[in-house]
Amino acid sequence: MTASPVLGNLFIIAAPSGAGKSSLIRALLEKHPDQSMQVSVSSTTRAPRPGEVQGVHYHFLNTDEFEQRIDAGEFYEWARVFGNYYGTSRKVVESLLAEGKDVFLDIDWQGAQQVREHHPEVRSVFIVPPSLDILEERLRFRGQDSDEVIAERMAKAQAEMSHYHEFDYLLVNDDFDSTLASLEHIVFAQRHKMPHQQVRYSKVLKELLGS
Ligand code: 5GP
Repeated sequence: MTASPVLGNLFIIAAPSGAGKSSLIRALLEKHPDQSMQVSVSSTTRAPRPGEVQGVHYHFLNTDEFEQRIDAGEFYEWARVFGNYYGTSRKVVESLLAEGKDVFLDIDWQGAQQVREHHPEVRSVFIVPPSLDILEERLRFRGQDSDEVIAERMAKAQAEMSHYHEFDYLLVNDDFDSTLASLEHIVFAQRHKMPHQQVRYSKVLKELLGS
């Protein structure tokens, strides 16, 4: 494959658990099977959940392996989230961007802060549910957990949501299809930014301007 001269765009998509983030990202990728959009698969030390596949949902590592990779500078960003390590591979993100792909990072607010520091042109999107009642309904729908576990998840969700204002875009996921359309618009708007278009259409622009 030939490398595109147009660098891809980097997006952070953050949300509390239960906001619908994973389904939205999956639907967006399915809508664009040309592979122009990619999700970076993170590494984590948390145990796989039923149905999760090594290398697809996460790269599951033990704590020693993860810490070695931190020391080797292999992470673009990493954080401890609810007692486990999570991190994004520097090599994967940089090579996808160099191939001209739009890359989505499904990371928490701590990781988002780190990425903004060394990649200020990143666009970050925060997704929230339309109400606490609906969030609770969605968290309960996931399994037969005790009230205590649900209360703990709600508290974690509220802690994550308290960082919403640090993001560029806010999506309230009331209606799935319209939230999906908004997310797609954000990605498309970014693709049409001047520096990208200047590279993509350099020949056209030269011709138009007679230079
Ligand atoms: P879960 O364990 O439910 O898959 O994810 C828990 C939280 O960790 C979510 O908020 C998710 O966005 C975040 N997360 C997943 N991967 C990464 C990562 O690579 N870096 C950071 N900072 N957070 C991550």
